[in-house]
Amino acid sequence: MNDWEQFAFINFIKRTKFGHSNICFICGNQANATGSHIYPAWIIEPCIGKRNKEESFKISVSSGEVDTFYGSSNSYNNQHSILTNPKEHHHTLDHIFCNTCEHELGKIEGKMKDPLLCINDKSKINRSYNPIASLEQFHSHQLKNIDIDEFLVFWFSIAFRFYIKHFIDHNQHIFNSGEANYLRSVIHEFLVTKKINSSRIVAEYFKFYVIAKENISNDGFITELGVEGHNEFYLCNYILEFYTKTDTIIPENIEYYKFENHINNKSIIVIISNEMWNTKIYNLKRFIPGFIQNIGQRLAGITGQSIEQMTFDYENELDNLKKENGIDLNHFSIAEATIIKKYS
Ligand SMILES: [Zn+2]
Repeated sequence: MNDWEQFAFINFIKRTKFGHSNICFICGNQANATGSHIYPAWIIEPCIGKRNKEESFKISVSSGEVDTFYGSSNSYNNQHSILTNPKEHHHTLDHIFCNTCEHELGKIEGKMKDPLLCINDKSKINRSYNPIASLEQFHSHQLKNIDIDEFLVFWFSIAFRFYIKHFIDHNQHIFNSGEANYLRSVIHEFLVTKKINSSRIVAEYFKFYVIAKENISNDGFITELGVEGHNEFYLCNYILEFYTKTDTIIPENIEYYKFENHINNKSIIVIISNEMWNTKIYNLKRFIPGFIQNIGQRLAGITGQSIEQMTFDYENELDNLKKENGIDLNHFSIAEATIIKKYS
């Protein structure tokens, strides 16, 4: 990366924001592609129904309302808020890429499609993967027949496109401009040369985990979540956990932390148990409309108080915690425990 590239990238964003310009976010040429997917259609298809229903799709998937989650205290990424306002939300955007970049990205997606979609199929998985480790809560598999740089660029491009979408929708940056430009330059070099050479050094800036659900289901989420120290991108039956060098929390507490992907590492996908999956999406579920009502019901069952009282107390407790400590996903469980203690 050089100074010009960084300047140009920031400039692209500003101009896109004000609608004066349609410059490809990857290469800087005219962004003449329309209907660019933020995430490959096939990856999120189980969660949104058939493609001809795309027009009415909102990002919230199961509830139809929740927009974007971006919370907690990731001090290295710039914005910290939880956005739960309903918003019309489609998963394609016009004029973010040029036709060439769009076409080249499509080729990579095409290669990733079969291996990713067969990951939950025990009869097919060995065709595309070598097993690496098998433990009680997860199995890890190494992808074969796909260039490791290509695997890396595919997931980098997902993170980068989430970044663009989040910026366009909310005027917030989930990566700083340097990080975004690093991603951009790696993707750009690969799309043009089919190799990562000059951008290799900036590719080292990132590492990530690809997590798949053991059993495919249609109630997944499609959203990004800024969590303590890193970003997580939810793609229906997959989660991309994405770390930059400034993300200081090393995931030592994660059982599968050994199976990270980075520029010099193998292409690894971790398949986690349904139980582990449910734990991972637990915090997301809290934002589904009706969640507060469900908590109220549960608390009423425990404390013997009315549902209305419990809902009131719970929201009150969340408000107090927010006033005292800002936004933190742990507040949900703290509020519950406080109320149970209060009435026991
Ligand atoms: Zn382009």
